[in-house]
Amino acid sequence: MTSLIDPANQPPAVAPALAKKLEKLGIRRRFDLVLHLPLRYEDETHLYAIADAPYGQAVLVEGEVIAHEIQFRPRRQLVARIEDASGSLVLRFIHFYPNQVKQFTTGNRVRALGEIRRGFAGDEMVHPKIREVGNGAPLADSLTPIYPTVNGLTQPALRKLIHAELDSQPLGETLPEELAAPLRLTPFAEAIRLLHLPTPDYSASQLADPRLPAWQRLKFDELLAQQLSMRLAYRARRLGRAPPLRGDGMLSRALVERLPFSLTGAQQRALAEVRADLTQPHPMHRLLQGDVGSGKTIVAALAALTAIESGYQVALMAPTEILAEQHFLKLSAWLEPLGVPVRWLAGSLRKKQKQEAMAAIASGETRLAVGTHALFQDEVAFHRLGLVIVDEQHRFGVGQRLALKEKGGEPHQLMMSATPIPRTLAMSFYADLDVSVIDELPPGRTPIVTKLINSARREEIIAHVAKTCADGQQAYWVCPLIEESETLQLQTAVDTHQQLTDDLPQLGVGLVHGRMKADEKAAVMAAFARNELQVLVATTVIEVGVDVPNASLMVIEHAERMGLAQLHQLRGRVGRGSARSVCVLMFDNPLSDLAKARLKVIYENVDGFEIARQDLLIRGPGELLGARQSGLPMLRFANLEEDLELLEAARELAPLLLERHPQAVDAHLDRWLAGREQFLKA
Ligand code: ADP
Ligand code: MG
Repeated sequence: MTSLIDPANQPPAVAPALAKKLEKLGIRRRFDLVLHLPLRYEDETHLYAIADAPYGQAVLVEGEVIAHEIQFRPRRQLVARIEDASGSLVLRFIHFYPNQVKQFTTGNRVRALGEIRRGFAGDEMVHPKIREVGNGAPLADSLTPIYPTVNGLTQPALRKLIHAELDSQPLGETLPEELAAPLRLTPFAEAIRLLHLPTPDYSASQLADPRLPAWQRLKFDELLAQQLSMRLAYRARRLGRAPPLRGDGMLSRALVERLPFSLTGAQQRALAEVRADLTQPHPMHRLLQGDVGSGKTIVAALAALTAIESGYQVALMAPTEILAEQHFLKLSAWLEPLGVPVRWLAGSLRKKQKQEAMAAIASGETRLAVGTHALFQDEVAFHRLGLVIVDEQHRFGVGQRLALKEKGGEPHQLMMSATPIPRTLAMSFYADLDVSVIDELPPGRTPIVTKLINSARREEIIAHVAKTCADGQQAYWVCPLIEESETLQLQTAVDTHQQLTDDLPQLGVGLVHGRMKADEKAAVMAAFARNELQVLVATTVIEVGVDVPNASLMVIEHAERMGLAQLHQLRGRVGRGSARSVCVLMFDNPLSDLAKARLKVIYENVDGFEIARQDLLIRGPGELLGARQSGLPMLRFANLEEDLELLEAARELAPLLLERHPQAVDAHLDRWLAGREQFLKA
């Protein structure tokens, strides 16, 4: 789609060392220089008299050096004083190079750009930008753009490269007049030129304002490129072939009849959507979204049975071995009585067992294979793979999604996630998936009471564990995440286990952590599920998916170290039975502002969607999307919270363009995403 002789897509004509630096900035082709926009602007168009210069903004002043010295108190620093006709000003440098000192030889004229503050010795600028001007120098006639850069690439050098491209690159419109006009967008060329080479009538703060029409235009274009590429990916998938899986409903009906509960309306709706997709001759890529505990597993099981009824195999993968194991146990319990053979396949299996499992999968004897992603990375050949189910899909990268696709042709894919996606994210980053939402919890759940307790009150909390278990319920105790050291984290878990065992001799206290072998972990989990153990001490391995309805107390140590999604997931492990459940979030002072903000959100909210929305506000979309974003075009200019209106406009325009102006689509994608189009085929 991109032509090699097209000047926009040629690499910048620079030496290899410089090309490397540009590459670090995401600049791989000449047009990327055009799209490399300033972070901010400096105003060197106007010279202030020292005495009249305003506070609270960067100003340019010029004066003669009347003194300088290197002071040693309170720390080594260079201090100079300059003077103009109106007054004088101190310039202070805490970091400086020896050769900077000579700029301040008495009698030199310098210009200083910086913010003036009131200091002990009168007005001062700390670390101003300095230029010696000798007998005066002309003022800039427009604001100076300051670009994101890397070490060893100066602003003037980068500016020169960029400005050269402004004259040689095509900056025409990609959008047809007919569709662009009603949106009243600033023309692309005008927006680009203004941002790179601002005219004197704009102030630095006007140019920094995201509502400036020029910025709006670029954000819109960027969002439009994203929408177009997602839609193309969606279309490309619809052109692929997959086996239509109609099923005769025998097995699914048999399972539904045996269930001790009936499906909620939301589960039925989601299942109907999945089943409708499965009957299609092209691959389903559906995201099944539902808050923790909303009952996604049974929907997945029934979808699996539809595939199995149709004579195909199903693979289910989960991000951790514990979670995969839970699925295995639950699905075997549901499916084996119906005569459907289920197999466990994980990295930790012994060689012989693994070979057996692989043989059974290859022969088609195994109808459902459950495991971790190791299942799909190894050389596992399916006989007839019809459906792949991926739990907690946000934990997996796009790459893994692709790897799956290559096994046994193109199976249908059902992805499950308990991480609720705010609407803006769903609209942009998940626009290539179909989404079903389970927006209703099964009946009979009791609300969870969340408590924030200082870890100094540990004794009381242990007493509360004792009481909960004396009442016949069970408790989780989650040990803190210690990012620096897995060994330390393990040690903490072992110590906590010992302490609780000593303090609660009447109770069975179990321990699971990431270093245990899979079968050891499974044995402990199973004992906890049977209430042979009343307390389960765990590292965060239990984060997702564990399901023991009789557990009604969740204690989380050092909750301030955990992210919101993780806290929400952990809290969701309780509140699954009929007993009133409690989640104790232990914290240690002092709390950072971020930690405070997170704890406040989790304390005040139970709704996963609201928590995710707040999470997005606190830390931006990057982390929330996890691996999903890798390989996808990141948004550089648009901001999903701020630019909802632009996003909606882009979403409306995309299908019209695709329908009526395929050439405009090509031109627009080429401008914005050339060189990164590999994901179009995803
Ligand atoms: P998640 O969506 O978090 O994966 P699960 O599928 O593990 O949730 O379901 C949570 C619990 O709710 C399980 O014990 C499951 O058997 C139970 N469950 C699922 N659907 C229903 C329902 N319709 N009525 C009652 N309980 C249900
Ligand atoms: Mg689950």
